[in-house]
Amino acid sequence: MLDANIKGQLKAYMEKLQQPIELVAAYDDSKKSEELKQLLEEIEPMSEKISLRTEESTEVRRPSFAINRVGTDIGVRFAGIPMGHEFTSLVLALLQVGGHPSKASQEVIQQVQELEGEFEFETYFSLSCQNCPDVVQALNLMSVLNPNIKHTSIDGALFQDEVEQREVMAVPSVYLNGQPWGQGRMTLEEIAARLDTNSAEKEARKINQKDAFDVLVIGGGPAGSAAAIYAARKGIATGIAAERFGGQVADTMGIENLISVPYTEGPKLVAAMEQHVNEYEVDIMNMQRAEKLIPAEQTGGLHEVRLANGGSLKARTVILSTGARWRQMGVPGEEEYRNKGVAYCPHCDGPLFKGKRV
Ligand SMILES: Cc1cc2nc3c(=O)[nH]c(=O)nc-3n(C[C@H](O)[C@H](O)[C@H](O)COP(=O)(O)OP(=O)(O)OC[C@H]3O[C@@H](n4cnc5c(N)ncnc54)[C@H](O)[C@@H]3O)c2cc1C
Repeated sequence: MLDANIKGQLKAYMEKLQQPIELVAAYDDSKKSEELKQLLEEIEPMSEKISLRTEESTEVRRPSFAINRVGTDIGVRFAGIPMGHEFTSLVLALLQVGGHPSKASQEVIQQVQELEGEFEFETYFSLSCQNCPDVVQALNLMSVLNPNIKHTSIDGALFQDEVEQREVMAVPSVYLNGQPWGQGRMTLEEIAARLDTNSAEKEARKINQKDAFDVLVIGGGPAGSAAAIYAARKGIATGIAAERFGGQVADTMGIENLISVPYTEGPKLVAAMEQHVNEYEVDIMNMQRAEKLIPAEQTGGLHEVRLANGGSLKARTVILSTGARWRQMGVPGEEEYRNKGVAYCPHCDGPLFKGKRV
């Protein structure tokens, strides 16, 4: 399954395992099961901390496998074979279940650890979907951080009957406790905020305590980031409030027209943008949706920006750089059938429609 180069790299990663993990495999007599068996048998000898056994339960999907931290109820499950874009998810799952720390911020780690309740997540992905790994990896990490959270990632192309029965027509599609919960790309921070029922209130309280900014930028795409850097370089108090830092480029895979950079990828560019903004004293307030602007003439003092979570920010100058959103075609049924047959990403959703008339 794995070529010599990948095997070498994976083996090097497996040296970072801190705690013993077991791979618990559920096979059937399909060709995919044989492939999965081969993959797991290649991974097992890579570290003394990895063991492999077969699943006894008849309740699980086949082929699938769990990665469990031995002696604990921490673990994640993949139904299918996480190759293609999901290979990174497999590597991260092995590492994180094995006790290797994630790079997530301490703040969000604590938020996930403090979540109360039972959360059983299932995510349908496709191996050619570039947005799916973000969701798979976020939920896997959450299930490692909090044993009340369980996560199974399912290759929709391999479990066609299930996909049809649940009417999954777009990936990533997330179910929580058996009910549809979310679709499309989501970050760890977004998922955690949605599950944390007090999060909006806590955020609003934090926001309301902030001093007024000299320059407040609404929107965290390339334009907002550039505006904030220019302002902060002059030494004035600058903040960015963005619904989603990175903006549209976060959804772009190949970027080949940023002069002097022959090729980059959206997520990489967004990480570089964030790092650049962070080199200055810019207060980045991510996941903050602005709903209302009250100009200084009306407040009699500073401009005020009201946020969806109830918080409000004040500033001497406000720069709006809210960019663009996907345009709808305006055809009948477009809204009602969004992600239920109206698809936006041929790479992502295509495998679910294999052999069908589209
Ligand atoms: C699939 C795709 C591929 C592309 N490929 C390329 C390419 O290869 N090369 C290229 O040059 N361009 C490309 N573009 C275009 C490029 O991404 C945009 O031109 C660029 O992102 C515009 O930057 P912006 O900062 O003006 O706005 P955006 O990137 O749209 O950012 C807007 C920001 O405002 C925030 N926002 C919006 N409303 C609110 C609100 N109410 N409250 C708070 N925040 C809000 C958003 O969350 C976001 O942070 C592509 C776009 C897409 C969608």
